[in-house]
Amino acid sequence: MIAVEYRMRKVGTRVLCFRLYAKVTGLFVFCLGWTAHWNPPRCGVPDLPALPDGQSGRNRQKRFVLSGGRWEKTDLTYKIIRFPWQLGNTKVRQAIAEALTVWSDVTPLTFTEVQGGRADIVIDFTRYWHGDNLPFDGPGGILAHAFFPKTHREGDVHFDYDETWTIGNNLGTDLLQVAAHEFGHVLGLQHTGVSKSLMSPFYIFRYPLSLSEDDKQGIQYLYGKPKPDPTPTPAQKIHDSFICPQFVQPEACDADFDAVSTIRGELFFFKSRYVWRLRSGKLQAGYPALASRHWQGIPSSVDAAFEDSLGNIWFFQGSQYWIYDGERRISGPASITELGLSASPVQAALMWGTEKNKIYFFKGGSYWRFNPGMRQVDNVYPRRMADWRGIPQEIDAAFQDEFGFAYFLRGRHYWKFDPVQVKVLEGYPRLIGHDFFGCLPSSNSFR
Ligand SMILES: [Zn+2]
Ligand SMILES: [Zn+2]
Repeated sequence: MIAVEYRMRKVGTRVLCFRLYAKVTGLFVFCLGWTAHWNPPRCGVPDLPALPDGQSGRNRQKRFVLSGGRWEKTDLTYKIIRFPWQLGNTKVRQAIAEALTVWSDVTPLTFTEVQGGRADIVIDFTRYWHGDNLPFDGPGGILAHAFFPKTHREGDVHFDYDETWTIGNNLGTDLLQVAAHEFGHVLGLQHTGVSKSLMSPFYIFRYPLSLSEDDKQGIQYLYGKPKPDPTPTPAQKIHDSFICPQFVQPEACDADFDAVSTIRGELFFFKSRYVWRLRSGKLQAGYPALASRHWQGIPSSVDAAFEDSLGNIWFFQGSQYWIYDGERRISGPASITELGLSASPVQAALMWGTEKNKIYFFKGGSYWRFNPGMRQVDNVYPRRMADWRGIPQEIDAAFQDEFGFAYFLRGRHYWKFDPVQVKVLEGYPRLIGHDFFGCLPSSNSFR
């Protein structure tokens, strides 16, 4: 076995060292790890191990590297043997599913969790010596390792139980990032020399979790591109298989929401730092997730959100607003008084009408119509909520669906508003948890 140490300067004085172990026989195992160091001389030039095809680190091409093996099928199963103590099993399942999705999104691969019996990919959280001659080392150092296809332990992914595992932040070791990297190995990718790639041996905490072009080319070299629509994409298939009531719904079932918006044709429910994502009425795997994973720099909670006709997404919190183009912030924070609103928080924003050119802001029993092109409210003097027949005075959130119906949320209830009759439909309010998240009535008792 050979061991190689990488050093890299991170922001400030904190430095992460990466140790990469490769066993250069027929079996290749890569371990990704880091330990904190102080006062490094500089970024070290990586001393890459000799690779099986005779390439050396020095003249290795800056592109993806294959392990030499691949799976001969594309529908793979996985199971999780043990879980880390810091995180609920539900959260771990979601993170694992999401980490696999980055690979299934760009290939014909599908991943289905099984709870018992045989599985192609076997995930375990384990400590020190654990039966594969590659012992873990307690906190820090080595974080995880995985075995390439066509080796005698193909499909095994081991995480060091003694790490401080977290999801979606850099307070510890982010399971999502490490898992996605290890799954790259399990599918047949080695480390790449291309920086900022998921398959770079350097751990970089960054969101949203995504593949670099190099990662994508590597995995598509092995498995090809996704099968064309109209059948559900592999990503959708796996998403569907993960709509498992017992581990996603309790939180959504108990929540009132800060904001809801249709964004790129999908429905996003916001609650404090979290977001739930529904596509065609189905909650997607990996959600709720931190909203900052989609929109870096988004405030820790939002009061209101909407997507304008240009596809820009507006977020409001307190007396400020932000505008994003996709996941990129293009303006903000700026004061909502620039829009003609008073400085008090907006409770809800509704994009209304087929032209997507009418935005309504709601607060304290009043509403304003807003012209996003002019970035001004039509009139600084608000109108009364009574114009929205059947809607309560105070609301938490509002959005429009693809058919032109408006929805107003308050607490755990919502009202559906008919654009033709210009009033609330019969039979409302109804429970948000039941209708959007499939919550059982028992978990939805009135409070
Ligand atoms: Zn690795
Ligand atoms: Zn192991």
